[in-house]
Amino acid sequence: MRALAELFASEYGLSGRIVPLGGENENYQLETSEGYRYVFKLADDQVSGELIDLEYQIAERIHASGVELKVPRIIKTRSGKAEARQTAMEGVELRGRLLEFVRGVSVGDAGEPSKELQRELGARLGELNIALTEFDHPAAHRTNSWDLAAAAQHRAAVPLVKDPGRQRALDWSLHYFSAAAAPELDRLPHSVIHADANDENVLVAKGHVQGLVDFGDCLYNPTVCELAIALAYIMLEKSDPLAVGAEVVAGYQQARPLSDMEIAVLPALVCGRLSTTVAMAAVRRQIDTDHPRWFVTEERAWCLLEKFYAMAPVDLALGLTTKIRPDQDAEPALTPDELRERRDRHIGRALSVAYDRPLSVVRGRGQYLFDDRGQPYLDLVNNVCHVGHCHPRIVEAGQKQMAVLNTNTRYLYDGLTNYAERLSTTLPDGLEVCFFVNSGSEANELALRLAAAFTGREGLLVLDGGYYGNTSRLIGSSPYKFRGESGQGQGAPSVHVAPMPDGYRGKHKGQGREAGVAYGNETGQVLKEADTEFAAFLAEPILSCGGQIVPPDGFMETAFQHVREVGAVCIMDEVQVGFGRVGTHFWGFETQNVIPDIVVMGKPIGNGHPMAAVVTTHEIADAFANGMEFFSTFGGNPISCAIGLAVLDVIEEEQLQKRALDLGARLREGLGQLMDEFLLIGDVRGVGLFQGFELVRSRTTLEPAALEANRLVNRMRDRGVLLSTDGPLHNVIKIKPPLVLTEDDLDMTIRHLRVVLSNLMYTKNA
Ligand code: PMP
Repeated sequence: MRALAELFASEYGLSGRIVPLGGENENYQLETSEGYRYVFKLADDQVSGELIDLEYQIAERIHASGVELKVPRIIKTRSGKAEARQTAMEGVELRGRLLEFVRGVSVGDAGEPSKELQRELGARLGELNIALTEFDHPAAHRTNSWDLAAAAQHRAAVPLVKDPGRQRALDWSLHYFSAAAAPELDRLPHSVIHADANDENVLVAKGHVQGLVDFGDCLYNPTVCELAIALAYIMLEKSDPLAVGAEVVAGYQQARPLSDMEIAVLPALVCGRLSTTVAMAAVRRQIDTDHPRWFVTEERAWCLLEKFYAMAPVDLALGLTTKIRPDQDAEPALTPDELRERRDRHIGRALSVAYDRPLSVVRGRGQYLFDDRGQPYLDLVNNVCHVGHCHPRIVEAGQKQMAVLNTNTRYLYDGLTNYAERLSTTLPDGLEVCFFVNSGSEANELALRLAAAFTGREGLLVLDGGYYGNTSRLIGSSPYKFRGESGQGQGAPSVHVAPMPDGYRGKHKGQGREAGVAYGNETGQVLKEADTEFAAFLAEPILSCGGQIVPPDGFMETAFQHVREVGAVCIMDEVQVGFGRVGTHFWGFETQNVIPDIVVMGKPIGNGHPMAAVVTTHEIADAFANGMEFFSTFGGNPISCAIGLAVLDVIEEEQLQKRALDLGARLREGLGQLMDEFLLIGDVRGVGLFQGFELVRSRTTLEPAALEANRLVNRMRDRGVLLSTDGPLHNVIKIKPPLVLTEDDLDMTIRHLRVVLSNLMYTKNA
């Protein structure tokens, strides 16, 4: 206090009574003998001179703007500085700033706010944001733990919450924030905002909003965060929080109308702020439990968060604004049951619908899908939307080209050649002649025709468990189908099947070279024993429908050798695993140390746009150019080429192959831990972001746990994570997400899996 008194005297020529103020920071009130009051805020190391200048400038700007909101201006020192410094006797330096005193009672202490006051709060904040539209300051371009735009950073704190119900609510809330708000924020209007209109900082006098204090958290942010933060506090402890929130939003809109997108992200931003409060409290409790100031809002924030968790996002949104996403009708369309009924009338029942409770999806973004109630789902199964659902770059590329030219490959246009050239650069030398078609099935069909033209033969060798497409010929070439339910048990006469190189369940165990070579030789044996002249070996470099199986080392090399010895060509079906998914390489076959003669691409090639490709050598392509024209009406059209090129750009620019490698390692580690904890998991396998785990009732007999796998998938769906089963025994859980997912998404998945697996252990088998 003495040092402070000295500082007041020397820096401001002031003296009086000094009283410490409660609050998160070290603040003091100075009352002079004339009855003038000031607030002095000590600055710790985190508060730079630049930040104090920001506080000075922002208060001056607001004051000059005429907004009906009193803010404390900084009083300059006698030497004209915003920041005061004083070296105390012990050599300790005191730093800080002196502020005007703003009268009023905090809104938190002022009793139940009237509707009028609620509206006023919104309006004043809207006016404040308008006044600051043009304001900027270098120090405002910062981030910290309270930065709402960065609220996803708190997902790491979820495991600190020990209460299972609360942990799940927080997990959901940050998942919702990450899916519904975070991806849109960059495109929203930004400005410097106060960023902390909480129940202590908003001051009320005579039933009206009087002032706003504490600009210590102000920063450059999406402007709508100002409103979201205020909402998160004003709705605390209210019997009808959304009604209160709606008044504040309405008031805000009178001053600063929100864009559709700002409205759309508002509920998720509010959840982001509540999550920040409870997550920060959880982190701080680790440091010091005896610090009551840190936990003042915690319990109240939990209550509100749990309330929101129990609601559908669409109701949260409608409660706040009577308006939801611009791309979504406020009136719910058909319920999933109604949709299902109509679908059954007009869509063949041979097409299945995923999950016991089918999902009615209305929107996709990045790694997330949203259902008709606005609920986000982490999509861990869609390897088609490789660079993320509705990636803006891909959407734009397609839209732009659609407005300029769409024709077919009988004309010359640079899109086709540019794309073909670019695609070939991803492949080993020699693989550079491209054919473009519309689906993986068509691509495999064409690959088989190329092989037949080149070899003059028809015989085909495939791997057991494989699926290559939906045409008659490919069904007859896909053991997954012809040996599966309602299959004929046998493929087409020219088709021969070699065993899956399954190091877990198959004849040869392990991933070592010995097993790989043994399986490779079995392939050779089939070639030898079959009474057929072989044209081709068609296989996936890593088996998908077969159950996410990575062939043991040496398998593909040995198999290719045998295939080539009989004069057949090697076709690698990269439809599932290509384009960087395996992490270490761009193509799956590169992990197997082989170079195929024909490469088949599909699914991720157009990020959801229906396109596919076959790439081969000049030798093979020339043999196919025998006079009969090959033509695909849509294959290689300018729109597809533009989209395909954009996909390659995004993979490169966003470094998605490396991401698949890094995140794949994290996923593998998490799944490995689960395997240590749960006997039900018999095997974890895969590469990059193409992984799976196999459920067995006994690690000795390997009895498949298909029922449990099905339950697991359905329960994960209820927790907002989409998975699916695969493998001939339907007991493998497959994971092949869009490559843009985050570490937090994976950590959340592992948390949910742990709970679901522990519940499954106690489920009686039906
Ligand atoms: N090959 C593989 C490995 C596949 O997984 C699929 C589809 N699941 C296809 C080919 C056929 O592709 P499409 O459905 O695009 O015809």
